[in-house]
Amino acid sequence: MAGKRIYVAGHGGMVGKALVRRLGAEDCEVLTADRSIDLREQAPVRGWFAEHKPDAVILAAARVGGIMANATRPGEFLYDNLAIAANVIEAARQQRTEKLLFLGSSCIYPKHADQPITEDALLTGALEPTNEAYAIAKIAGLKLAAAYRTQYGCDFISAMPTNLYGPGDNYDPQGSHVIPGLIRRFHEAKLAGAAEVAIWGTGTPKREFLHVDDLADACIFLLANYSGESHVNVGFGEDIAILDLARKVAATVGYEGRIVTDTSKPDGTPRKLLDCTKLSALGWSPSIGLEEGLRHAYAAFLEAEA
Ligand code: GDP
Repeated sequence: MAGKRIYVAGHGGMVGKALVRRLGAEDCEVLTADRSIDLREQAPVRGWFAEHKPDAVILAAARVGGIMANATRPGEFLYDNLAIAANVIEAARQQRTEKLLFLGSSCIYPKHADQPITEDALLTGALEPTNEAYAIAKIAGLKLAAAYRTQYGCDFISAMPTNLYGPGDNYDPQGSHVIPGLIRRFHEAKLAGAAEVAIWGTGTPKREFLHVDDLADACIFLLANYSGESHVNVGFGEDIAILDLARKVAATVGYEGRIVTDTSKPDGTPRKLLDCTKLSALGWSPSIGLEEGLRHAYAAFLEAEA
């Protein structure tokens, strides 16, 4: 990594911001493209790569969103993510970029995959319908990176993180993921003195959550230490029921009212816990626990709201 020029695609998003923070501790030059470069458009992406010729790329740009956003805007989630992956990976091949890390998501795995989910569960069953569009695009991206390794010898790798949270998250009440959604809802309920807050679904699905600073650290680790065709899971190692998560978020925020469930909203997949044997065998493990991470995320929310 020493002296390398590393392009973070998607530096304005939660993951991209964490990568830029983390790369600040490395002896390297961080490149970002300005917002006028639309990664869904082929010509500007090719032009940017031809001009800047990065040594390495971390592809953290994506159209992302929670269960409602995915379920109601599948066209955007499929097209935007396919176009971003195709344009950036192909431009990196053309410019002979030494290394590329493509970031996907744990929703690429079949809805009923055995838990914890190993990397080889990919494409062994039907996907969860509420995030199928996003998952199809991410599967195409990781397969493109792998195909370019096979056909052209490009050192392109992929990492599949579990559900992420942390500073820079999207707190939009409809489009967000569960942690930022609940942080906002409990915070507003506390301020309003509300007696009751509803969480979506039955509260019984289980999810695994990784702090985005841990993900950024894992990405830098993989960039330096991994080269292989198979994608690598990046998880926390434990999951939690949504109702228990809601209690933890309420405690973090200081909301003391009741928590009820709104079963008119979707549950999504019942469970999604990654098997991270491969990553731990390579020598990486997470260091930010959920309670500490939630305190950090709430502090970042308050700062962003101020
Ligand atoms: P998913 O992992 O793709 O399902 O993404 P989400 O983070 O959007 O949802 C995770 C789980 O949390 C699902 O079972 C949701 O129904 C549940 N959930 C409970 N309350 C909320 C909320 O306020 N927002 C979101 N996005 N999900 C919620």
